[in-house]
Amino acid sequence: MSYAQEVLNRVKTNYPSQVLFHQAVEEVLESLSPELDKNKKYQQNAILERLVVPDREIHFRVSWVDDAGKVQVNRAYRIEFNSAIGPYKGGLRFHPSVNEGVIKFLGFEQIFKNSLTTLAMGGGKGGSDFDPKGKSDGEIMRFCQAFMNELYRHIGATTDVPAGDIGVGGREIGYLFGQYRKLTNRFDGVLTGKALGWGGSLVRTEATGYGSVYFAQEMLKARGESLEGKVCTVSGSGNVAIYTVEKLQQLGAKPVTISDSKGMIYDKDGIDLALLKELKEVKRTSLEEYAQKRSSAVYTKASDYKAGTNGVWAIPCFAAFPSATQNELSLEDAKILLQNGCQCVSEGANMPSTIEAAHYFIQAKICYGPGKAANAGGVAVSGLEMAQNASMTPWSFEVVDERLQGIMRSIFTNASQTAAEFGEPTNLVLGANIAGFRKVANAMIDQGVF
Ligand code: NDP
Repeated sequence: MSYAQEVLNRVKTNYPSQVLFHQAVEEVLESLSPELDKNKKYQQNAILERLVVPDREIHFRVSWVDDAGKVQVNRAYRIEFNSAIGPYKGGLRFHPSVNEGVIKFLGFEQIFKNSLTTLAMGGGKGGSDFDPKGKSDGEIMRFCQAFMNELYRHIGATTDVPAGDIGVGGREIGYLFGQYRKLTNRFDGVLTGKALGWGGSLVRTEATGYGSVYFAQEMLKARGESLEGKVCTVSGSGNVAIYTVEKLQQLGAKPVTISDSKGMIYDKDGIDLALLKELKEVKRTSLEEYAQKRSSAVYTKASDYKAGTNGVWAIPCFAAFPSATQNELSLEDAKILLQNGCQCVSEGANMPSTIEAAHYFIQAKICYGPGKAANAGGVAVSGLEMAQNASMTPWSFEVVDERLQGIMRSIFTNASQTAAEFGEPTNLVLGANIAGFRKVANAMIDQGVF
């Protein structure tokens, strides 16, 4: 049995219910095998065994009072996975599906993603099973304050720097930062995704979506192709999806879909970005209203998708941008996409393709950008926000956007050159995993056993 397989088996035995964590570990370890065979130092230093167990897991209770005066209780987590190359860095997710296994899958992915950005950031992730949907602003604020009442003692600008993720945007970061400041009497770069007036960075809001499109551009450019004039499909309608749509339109492509947990929009004339922003950033409502306002748009409920598929991927496209959540693109979806001529998949979400779908894309040798490479733009600009906070100097939009483009280019180059080293130049899963792993694993060896 290979070293990687042995460690994977141990993960499955030790944490039997954490299936998303198994999936994330399996995807990384299976692509590390050729590197592990070549370099026995990793096994000699028990690097995999150390990587799959977080440095520290913090589980805590969040008690808060709702608008009706009732005490509510949620479970919360901060998982500090690995800090070999920098302070723990990774978002907070507020969603009812959050549990320890979800945060571990996200935190594990984050180690390699952050390493790929070229910036000094370790991997961590956190969140709560709190559901922000339907809550008043006051309830969101009280929950965020109660969450920070415990979290503040574990984080710090050079220790652990959380950011947003699903259900955590600018509003939540504001309430979290305010409470951190109140509790500690410190104003420092302890969270990223802050508003511009108090330490935020230009381009942070747009960074993950823009970065995923820049990554697609790099993959396509290497094959003499571009996005200009091409029909694209996007899933989700949150932060990542909105700015994926925006950048695609700026580059002359035509995004025609968006979705949320209840259903999807197919707008044959192309997504109306202003309407999308109004519905999702201002009114925070379902997408059904989009179709009521645009005669070119058709709304399909998620319950009407063909069994085992996501309706978004049935719309023919040149490039697809999964930007909602994990496992939203199945093998069946992957087959439909390719039958319809799709040549590029750039993952804005974390682990949106199942392992089988990812294998299918790799075998078909299409341009396939796995999340930890393609969506690294968000955390990269968070790293740039930390740099601006540390130097107390804000940078212009152009400077940050240029740095973002440069980072996405270098992630692509690093992943494709590493993949080529192993004789599979188009396999960016292999390239991204090995490139991200090497830097962290070598740092762990340099720093000794603890
Ligand atoms: P948001 O909360 O802003 O938006 C999430 C979107 O995905 C919403 O449209 C939501 O629909 C939809 N969604 C969430 N869960 C499900 C589900 N189970 N089924 C179908 N649709 C769902 O989050 P983000 O845009 O920030 O995050 C999207 C993805 O991108 C996540 O995988 C996240 O981890 C990843 N990511 C985000 C980064 C960032 O900077 N924000 C950085 C890197 C990765 P609804 O509103 O109906 O729930």
